[in-house]
Amino acid sequence: MHAQFADHPGQIRPESLPGTKQDALANWEWAKKYCLPLFGPYEDAMAQEEPGLFHTRISALLNILRLLPRQVVKEVETLQLPLASKEGFIRQILGWREFVRHVHRETQGFRKRTPKAVKPGDAGYTKWGNPRWRASKNLGDLDGGARPSFLGGKWSLPAAFWGVPSGLNCLDQVIKSVWEDSYSHHITRLMVLSNIATLLDVSPRDLTDWFWIAYTDAFDWVVEPNVLAMGTFGTGPVMTTKPYVSGAAYINRMSNFCGNCEFNPKTNCPVTNLYWAFLERHKLELQTNPRLRLPFQNLKKRGQAKIQKDNEIYAVVRKVLAASTRLTPQHVDSVHSNFLLDKP
Ligand SMILES: Cc1cc2nc3c(=O)[nH]c(=O)nc-3n(C[C@H](O)[C@H](O)[C@H](O)COP(=O)(O)OP(=O)(O)OC[C@H]3O[C@@H](n4cnc5c(N)ncnc54)[C@H](O)[C@@H]3O)c2cc1C
Ligand code: SF4
Repeated sequence: MHAQFADHPGQIRPESLPGTKQDALANWEWAKKYCLPLFGPYEDAMAQEEPGLFHTRISALLNILRLLPRQVVKEVETLQLPLASKEGFIRQILGWREFVRHVHRETQGFRKRTPKAVKPGDAGYTKWGNPRWRASKNLGDLDGGARPSFLGGKWSLPAAFWGVPSGLNCLDQVIKSVWEDSYSHHITRLMVLSNIATLLDVSPRDLTDWFWIAYTDAFDWVVEPNVLAMGTFGTGPVMTTKPYVSGAAYINRMSNFCGNCEFNPKTNCPVTNLYWAFLERHKLELQTNPRLRLPFQNLKKRGQAKIQKDNEIYAVVRKVLAASTRLTPQHVDSVHSNFLLDKP
């Protein structure tokens, strides 16, 4: 197996993939016993040393029908579990999973509304990862899927997504775990990977192609609504009412990544500057969104000088990551000091 797929991205660790029916059932028994009791209370938490936390890791098994959604929901209904866990888990399957399936079917993967990529993309793998890897040559008339970009994001994914350290500990840790497990849980997908790519104006299609390549649970009908619509707001308010973006305060509150990072979430973390610069750049599309009223009020209070600094930090971060180099506090501090020199 190693020889056959040597040019493919990621590592092959057979023990992290339930291959047989017995493995699938063992995974589900483990999930019921050890994950579900704490699933509800810690559903949105992220931990550096425990990438899966109390998530069940059954998505790939459900998607290939090794486990059936009806079966897991029925079983969970009868378990003695805290209400938050029971409700939270059933909502994910009956709510989100079913919902994205319908969205994909009704919109034909958003192809009904948006232009298509002419051929399937590789999200930069042959550029940043392994130039010898080639997707199947027999693509027939396959297109590359819809490429909506409501906010105009058009940049390529930085090499960080292929394992080159970015210096942002949250991003680097999640990406490392994805290349080890071909998996990460919902909040790391949404609030670290998609968040940072969206704040950098990465093309939603490029990010979707990356998820498709990197995760064992990725199927078109589930990866596309989750990334093109929910993760990047690429389709605008078709599926979600606002973009899921945040600065360092959220990541610091919900995880322990920041304690192990060279940046400080309260002083010089560039993710916070990226967040404000994002709101400023996308004022036109977003400021009338009622769910973003508060962030835009806060942006106004931030004042022109700080906003200019946010924009400069955004430009530096993009440049450093696009050059496949590692961001350091010095890069960010240089903007701070230039800024102080320029503006007495
Ligand atoms: C940017 C992004 C990309 C995603 N890509 C995929 C993907 O390619 N394939 C995939 O199966 N899921 C995807 N999801 C949804 C969700 O993150 C995964 O289903 C979940 O993290 C899988 O881990 P788990 O089995 O441990 O889930 P748990 O947290 O234990 O949840 C239980 C189950 O609920 C279902 N579920 C929860 N949220 C969603 C959702 N938003 N959409 C569909 N099903 C959901 C899954 O079947 C999951 O196995 C994505 C989410 C985001 C934000
Ligand atoms: S300080 Fe910033 S870059 Fe570092 S882990 Fe926290 S949010 Fe991520």
